[in-house]
Amino acid sequence: MVALNRHRLTERIFAGERISGEELLQLYRWPLEELGALADRRRQLAKAGAYSGRGNEIVTYIVDRNINYTNVCNVYCKFCAFYRVEGDDDAHVITHAEIDRKIEETVALGGTQILMQGGHHPKLTKQWYLDLLEHIKNKFPRINIHGFSPSEFRRFQSGGTWLDPRWRGRNPGGSGPQTHFAAESDER
Ligand code: SF4
Repeated sequence: MVALNRHRLTERIFAGERISGEELLQLYRWPLEELGALADRRRQLAKAGAYSGRGNEIVTYIVDRNINYTNVCNVYCKFCAFYRVEGDDDAHVITHAEIDRKIEETVALGGTQILMQGGHHPKLTKQWYLDLLEHIKNKFPRINIHGFSPSEFRRFQSGGTWLDPRWRGRNPGGSGPQTHFAAESDER
């Protein structure tokens, strides 16, 4: 068990209280072990009421698949072995037929979600993304789309009109699960 500091903020987090943006920034300076312990506490509080009060005894999982819709990227991070430039032999942009095949394989294995991440392809337009999302939602209405990393969002944002209400937690394809956006980084 990690020994927690006696900071008032610790007590408030432990009690499940909401904290402010300024308080959140303080956490950057705290030891990782303490942050982990507090995160675990919040997780336990959040799950406590699930499954008729057995939320902390039951672990759930889903089957999902990471799909890299393109490996073309113009950010050129030094550590990245994933990206390609247009014209490279193994540069790719996924087609609707290819994504259909990948999702069908996922569904056949009991999958319910796809996580889509890719490079910052300079020529993929907002319409290209919307067409892809609508295609998936129309063809696989029960598949949850967990899509796009923070850096991709920054790119969408830098395009000015990229972010519109259709992207904000709404379902581009009508019925079925909503589209969500990934907030974690990916191994590429
Ligand atoms: S794919 Fe991601 S990590 Fe790789 S160069 Fe592009 S932004 Fe950087």
